[in-house]
Amino acid sequence: MRGALKIFTAFGIPVFIHWTFGFIFVFILWNAQSEGMTTMETLTYTALFMSLFVCVLLHEYGHALAARRYGVKTQDIVLMPIGGVARLEKMPDKPMQEFVVAIAGPMVNVVIAILLILGIWLLTDPAYIELMANLVISAEEGNEIIEETGIQIPQTLQFAINLAILNIVLVIFNMIPAFPMDGGRVFRALLSMKTGRPKATRIASMVGQVIAGLIIFYGIWTNAFMTIVLGLFVIYGARSENAMVQLEDLLSRYTTRDLVRTQFTRINANDWMMTAIELFRHGLERHFLVFDMDGNLVGVLEEESILHAMKKPDVTTEVINYAHRPQTVLISDSLTEVHRRIRYEGHGVVAVLNEEGNLAGVVDEAALANFIRLEEWMSAKR
Ligand SMILES: [Zn+2]
Repeated sequence: MRGALKIFTAFGIPVFIHWTFGFIFVFILWNAQSEGMTTMETLTYTALFMSLFVCVLLHEYGHALAARRYGVKTQDIVLMPIGGVARLEKMPDKPMQEFVVAIAGPMVNVVIAILLILGIWLLTDPAYIELMANLVISAEEGNEIIEETGIQIPQTLQFAINLAILNIVLVIFNMIPAFPMDGGRVFRALLSMKTGRPKATRIASMVGQVIAGLIIFYGIWTNAFMTIVLGLFVIYGARSENAMVQLEDLLSRYTTRDLVRTQFTRINANDWMMTAIELFRHGLERHFLVFDMDGNLVGVLEEESILHAMKKPDVTTEVINYAHRPQTVLISDSLTEVHRRIRYEGHGVVAVLNEEGNLAGVVDEAALANFIRLEEWMSAKR
């Protein structure tokens, strides 16, 4: 991950800290300065923040390990000043599974909060509990008791209370139904059971953006920069994830047969690169399939490789030396599969095989992009 430092790997998932995490310390010191904290108080305050981020990390592991139960891998966990992100390979398609994965994170903080409260309850002198109860009921009366008896709440106890409160805040905050935050995912999952995923995502994304708008408004009103950033993140996330789900829904309704091009240029494995460069310069095709003497598909020559040979320049090397392993899909495969190979795996062209396993044609990135553009234009017209 760019701009991030790996700190360790646990449960087979690497944990990174994003460089912007450094701002946390700037924020802590700035706050300590303006509040006039002593060195000891500043250290306690820093320790509280670090403990909070440990809880955030455990929250992300909650998502990651729940996802693993459904066979979904987690690429990594990244900690940032506004929270953490467990980058799952994908969200499970089944609404019930998404529900579990989304709620697993906040549930970790519920458990932490309960354990802290139980710990406080069992390990603390009842006098303090009574004092705290009084403080909660009436700060004035509580303070009177403190003055009369002279008891002070110990630092460790105050620390545990603060951490418990922070965990409860984390739960409430994450459960705001602003997709793609956890609460929004829970909302989408529940909605999916009724309406199906594409429609549920559209609604959840819209609701998420409205709530994010309110969050930003609140951030501007209270001068809270981080709140504004968070709101913008939510809007961006809601829009891009909705676009992705709608696109996947669109692609799943077509098969490779709808997009296959049967007319394409064949290049021989033993041709010189000069031939490929000429075809590239004077034709419309950016990527070519490569065949051996017997007409078997043996490789694919992609734009990047041709450009590489042009730059060198290297025109007398045989094409096969610049070719990669060909990607094949079946003509009955959904376009989702073609999209995965081209957009996510970065292949320029895939070879399409018919039911008998013979080469039927190709689909390249330009054709796919064109198809998506056209379909989006058509659906906008409607
Ligand atoms: Zn979460």
